[in-house]
Amino acid sequence: MAKKSISAVDCKGKVVLMRVDFNVPQDDSGAITDDRRIRMALPSIESVVHRGGKLVLMSHLGRPKGKGPEPEFTLKPAADRLAEMLGKPVVFAGDTVGPEAEAAISNMKDGDVVCLENVRFNPGEKTGDPEFAGRLAGWADIYCNDAFGTCHREEASMVAVPLAMGSKPKVVGFLVEKEIKYLSDTIANPARPFVAILGGAKVSDKINVISNLLGVCDKVIIGGAMAYTFSLAQGGATGKSLVEKDKVELAKELIAKGGNKLVLPVDTHCGDDFNSQCNKQVVEAGKIPDGWEGLDIGPKSAEMFAAIVRSAKTVVWNGPMGVFEMPPFDQGTVAVAKAVADSDAVSIIGGGDSAAAIEQLGFADTVTHVSTGGGASLQMLEGEKFKAVEILDEA
Ligand code: AMP
Repeated sequence: MAKKSISAVDCKGKVVLMRVDFNVPQDDSGAITDDRRIRMALPSIESVVHRGGKLVLMSHLGRPKGKGPEPEFTLKPAADRLAEMLGKPVVFAGDTVGPEAEAAISNMKDGDVVCLENVRFNPGEKTGDPEFAGRLAGWADIYCNDAFGTCHREEASMVAVPLAMGSKPKVVGFLVEKEIKYLSDTIANPARPFVAILGGAKVSDKINVISNLLGVCDKVIIGGAMAYTFSLAQGGATGKSLVEKDKVELAKELIAKGGNKLVLPVDTHCGDDFNSQCNKQVVEAGKIPDGWEGLDIGPKSAEMFAAIVRSAKTVVWNGPMGVFEMPPFDQGTVAVAKAVADSDAVSIIGGGDSAAAIEQLGFADTVTHVSTGGGASLQMLEGEKFKAVEILDEA
């Protein structure tokens, strides 16, 4: 069932405590190198501000030890970047539940924005401490979760705080609403044929996704180094490719479960070393010579995968088809990205490397949804329910 949206609550004069994901990448000097996560939260932020709400933002940044402030993990640069984007001041509180936060919140006027310091500076964030959560919730009239990248976690700001709100409104922001719509609702009720493309390094990371999607998809295409573990399971030769020998039995089970739904590469682009300058050859799948390693799908596989994508009405893609950071072994990933971007299907790109590839290639605007969450989007594709979302109000 759909969750109640921030758009459905009256914010005027109310303190809205919004959990955002401002966990932005920074360089050694602390400068933000990619502000996408802040930009993605803007629609919810602006919606509250424009309607006269008093917006209090909380987020984590990095992995501080949880024993007090660590300057390299301060959220101040994110608050400053947000102020630039909004064209209005964002008051930064140098603590999360201390006197600075209290003073900043009590001085707020309608439409003001306060950003609290990194929630993970407090030991109670990781442990879900009810007292810490109670202090945050005590300030708020409305709780809003717009931190999709953190939705699979059960830290205080994600779970204990909304629980401590009692009967006060607990809603989703626009970003979380959109992620749930595509990663959960569309997948539960897809237009068919429904095709999933899964790649990346390890079968072990994606077993549950493969297994869940085999239950709901018409075709599940496997690429990336994962394919070589499947090849081993079929008795193929994989040379010195990246394989997980301890996952061969599991690959056999998935092959049996998948039947003709499971589509494996028919050829492999190999190298004799792990670099762009290595000697290269394309071989049939399962025939990788000793001393060579598979670094990408071959051209026949790329064309076969693209044709399957062209016939689909819903496409989900997670994980590169090869070592796409190292041309020419990006060709398989580029071919799949193009096919997904060109298709009229509802196209959903799981977070992480495939989202990065789609962005780099300039296709982000031609797909239906690019997920902002890495771990969270994978877990949603596994069919998992998130407590941080479950406990919010129904629409
Ligand atoms: P993942 O994080 O599991 O989605 O995996 C992404 C990583 O898998 C990327 O860094 C790719 O370079 C890597 N990868 C994909 N295919 C291969 C391959 N054939 N050999 C080694 N690494 C690969």
